[in-house]
Amino acid sequence: MKPNYRRCVSCRKVSPKEDFWRVVRVYPSHQVQLGQGMGRSAYLCPEATCLQAAQKKNRLGKALRSKVPPELYQTLWEKLPLMSSTEQTQDPNDNPRENLKLAALTQQQ
Ligand SMILES: [Zn+2]
Repeated sequence: MKPNYRRCVSCRKVSPKEDFWRVVRVYPSHQVQLGQGMGRSAYLCPEATCLQAAQKKNRLGKALRSKVPPELYQTLWEKLPLMSSTEQTQDPNDNPRENLKLAALTQQQ
């Protein structure tokens, strides 16, 4: 693997690390947070499918060997880039992104 390339914990895609969200278990507090920090880190595509899989299958938690707080997933869902206008529907009840989010949140409880 080339330097600065990372692998998504969900879909296993390899990309430059700038393309991913970085989640890090900070040393020595073991607090799991998004972005910068020293410690064990995991990378995730900024995509609903990868985020949902990471949450549902606890891929981030396994990669980090730590419990990932629900608030972190919530933050990621809110950071999810908006889909392009061509993919958006007029009906708010038929929004794939919202449906995925609701499904993930429901499964978590
Ligand atoms: Zn991915």
